[in-house]
Amino acid sequence: MSILHRRNFITGTGLALAALPLTAGRAAVQTLADGSFADPRTLPGPDYAQRGPLAPVKASLDRLISLEVCTRPFRPLGPRIEREDMGRKAVIHNYGHGGSGWSLSWGAARRAVALAKATGESSIAIIGCGAIGLTTAVEAQRAGLKVRIYTKEFFPYVRSFRATGVWSPSARIVALPHATLEFRRIWEEMARYSYFRYSSLLGLPSNPVEWSETYKLSDTPFAAGSSLYTHSPYPGEPDYPHLEDEHTPDLMTRPQDLLKGQHPFPVAHARRMNTLMFNISAYTQMLMESFVARGGTLVEREFESPRQFADLPEKTIIHCTGYAARALLKDDSLVPVRGQTARLIPQPEVNYGISYDSKNCYTVSRRDGMIVQAWDPGDYGSEGTTPNLATTIAAIEKIAALFPPVRG
Ligand SMILES: Cc1cc2nc3c(=O)[nH]c(=O)nc-3n(C[C@H](O)[C@H](O)[C@H](O)COP(=O)(O)OP(=O)(O)OC[C@H]3O[C@@H](n4cnc5c(N)ncnc54)[C@H](O)[C@@H]3O)c2cc1C
Repeated sequence: MSILHRRNFITGTGLALAALPLTAGRAAVQTLADGSFADPRTLPGPDYAQRGPLAPVKASLDRLISLEVCTRPFRPLGPRIEREDMGRKAVIHNYGHGGSGWSLSWGAARRAVALAKATGESSIAIIGCGAIGLTTAVEAQRAGLKVRIYTKEFFPYVRSFRATGVWSPSARIVALPHATLEFRRIWEEMARYSYFRYSSLLGLPSNPVEWSETYKLSDTPFAAGSSLYTHSPYPGEPDYPHLEDEHTPDLMTRPQDLLKGQHPFPVAHARRMNTLMFNISAYTQMLMESFVARGGTLVEREFESPRQFADLPEKTIIHCTGYAARALLKDDSLVPVRGQTARLIPQPEVNYGISYDSKNCYTVSRRDGMIVQAWDPGDYGSEGTTPNLATTIAAIEKIAALFPPVRG
């Protein structure tokens, strides 16, 4: 059994996090007799034979309450978090977070806010109010800044609202050739800080953030690696680095490969893991309330050109328009990656999700709905927003087939 010592654990200060070989902060950590900690990846798993039956997912079309398409703002170069001076304005960009925008939001916000603070201004503007703009606003307030958000849309109309809502910090965040040592250092710092912030949001009223179990199912044996996100790219996509497995394995609980009889699913291979999940409706409401309670103000405004940034009274602007930056800034480095999420009526009794890649279906039990996700050929490079109902119906049927009716 490997041992971790107390000094190696994150404290949330964010100091020298990248230098720590292993960190924790999870409930799974056990204290040993000598006061050190056990590496949770080496601990024996729970006895699955003793687990109670899983509540079945009621996967049927008559429970469908919404079907929406979102565009992941993917930059093969990695997200753009840097300062650009435009006339008399210091514009800090914070966009291009691919399929990891929710997961990395706090870490990305901290980087952007540090750049904004360095301008010396005490009042700043933020453009955009999706996952990135809103967390950046709250982080800026925590750093003592006065913040006004300008945005074309608010939740629930922003793209971020249509995300799956799970911890996936390495999902389409950079293409493999651009995952330099410096990128990896920054990514790890962002992932660790975000993880710390999300952990501090557990156990709150309305459950904005919680842990859930995921059953990963497969027709073939599992490849090495622990992350929920599958790294084999879908057709037409670049290769991606295995960032979680390589840099933050300690932030993932060790997956448990299950034997037949230890799970109820009619599949050849099943693996169980724990997943950090964001209940997006409650979470965004909490963030908005927090922002307003700290004196933040909101202005509905659409910018047609960055020249209009000059109209704002604030001299420092954090720009967080996500995929819209491609048109607004004419930034062709942004690649759209279409994604479709459906919501079925919530099932609070279902305390787990299912990820079945080879059957193209994924479901997670959020408080605001059973989210069903599936991909379509051609998603990569597509900014199409028309839902494909047939894909969702197929995914719902495949999930339903995992719960054969009980006879007798
Ligand atoms: C199907 C799907 C599932 C996903 N699941 C996950 C997940 O489980 N976990 C995860 O971490 N990430 C996930 N993502 C990725 C995540 O959703 C994105 O990275 C994130 O939403 C990007 O947020 P954003 O704030 O940059 O963009 P947006 O949500 O698009 O926000 C942009 C903001 O800018 C405003 N704006 C745009 N243009 C202008 C303008 N011209 N003038 C003024 N305002 C403007 C908009 O109104 C909006 O307020 C998923 C994405 C998809 C598509």
